[in-house]
Amino acid sequence: MTSDPYIKRIALFGSTGSIGVQTLEVIEAHPDKFSVEILTAHKNHDLLVRQALQFNPNIVVIVDDTRYAEVKEALANTDIKVFAGEKALEEVAAMDCYDLMLAAIVGYAGLRPTLKAICHGKTIALANKETLVVAGDIVIQKAVENRVPIIPVDSEHSAIFQCLVGETRNRIEKIILTASGGPFLGRKPNYLVNVKKEHALQHPNWTMGAKITIDSATLMNKGLEMIEAKWLFNLEPEQIQVLIHPQSIIHSMVQFEDGSVKAQMGLPDMKLPIQYALAFPKRIVSNFPRCDFKKINSLTFEEPDIRTFRNLALAKDALHKGGNLPCVMNAANELAVYAFLRNRIGFLDITDVIERTMDKVHFIDNPTLDEYFESDGEARNYAADIMHLS
Ligand code: NDP
Ligand code: MG
Repeated sequence: MTSDPYIKRIALFGSTGSIGVQTLEVIEAHPDKFSVEILTAHKNHDLLVRQALQFNPNIVVIVDDTRYAEVKEALANTDIKVFAGEKALEEVAAMDCYDLMLAAIVGYAGLRPTLKAICHGKTIALANKETLVVAGDIVIQKAVENRVPIIPVDSEHSAIFQCLVGETRNRIEKIILTASGGPFLGRKPNYLVNVKKEHALQHPNWTMGAKITIDSATLMNKGLEMIEAKWLFNLEPEQIQVLIHPQSIIHSMVQFEDGSVKAQMGLPDMKLPIQYALAFPKRIVSNFPRCDFKKINSLTFEEPDIRTFRNLALAKDALHKGGNLPCVMNAANELAVYAFLRNRIGFLDITDVIERTMDKVHFIDNPTLDEYFESDGEARNYAADIMHLS
């Protein structure tokens, strides 16, 4: 807790996740620049309490209210206020005690608190890409109305954002989103049909939460990122290209009207885009491992195999058609990924569930926020029915 005007006061939503933990490592290394004011978790009360005791925030939120008493008791000898329940996320997002929200909740659950923060004029460092996939038009419109900067944390979008610094008057011809290809690069359906979650959770270059790791294995992650890029950088679908780049050294590129291409590079380490988003517009020192180009034999690029990894084709369809289709796709994907992680469906079934749900839920061209919420619910019900999950 602090009132020093030079210290950015951070609300870290999703502090117990992969991005959340790495964000706290960045903050810990720069106590003169950042303070932690809000921490939130879904169920992981043990880690939330440990983080709270170390970083002494104003407020913690445990969404699962059955854990409230344990958190409250563990923090009884501190001044830290404890809230519980889903609604509390929105309530604390509206509070005055912080300047910047690092949005690191996974999935659709991140949308409402992030929107609340935007409507209260908070700067957003956005990891939670699903927020833009579900309701990108409304999120961006609210950000413009409230003069709120949205600084991407997703490494590809951070790369593009960094390439665009100083280029505000120059038109983007296209962006090239790079993708590692995930653990199943080069595999065909006859292999993928037998893939188990233990295998799919082994990402070659990045250590991340379970949901995004499966999204990377199915290439849905890159589909979500195309839609995220459309909203962040105001692009037409035709301006967004995906290339497989297995070394994950070039994090993405921007091509301008004169044919010049800018790329942002570095070792794959999420702490770099996290720190960049927290400190923007400044770059601040870090001790992250440096890239030694002599040790990188080659940088390679290839077209993604969208006949095998059909999720990317579905996401392109959603990107082009717009309306509530990305929201519906996202809902079906979230449910299908969690079913796969619980061994309820196979790897290739994920795509079938998404495709059938996208075909079934009625299309709305220009949804209101309530219509996005309804489309999400409808898609989840339909996807659950297909998978016999109820
Ligand atoms: P994790 O699964 O590791 O962490 C998710 C966080 O959200 C945890 O704090 C979790 O709490 C919390 N959470 C989960 N469900 C809910 C819910 N229903 N309501 C409120 N909080 C919830 O995810 P990651 O850190 O990997 O990813 C976070 C976001 O960042 C995702 O949108 C992802 O796409 C994006 N991202 C992640 C990258 C990475 O390297 N990990 C890279 C680029 C983007 P608890 O621990 O208690 O369950
Ligand atoms: Mg990414």
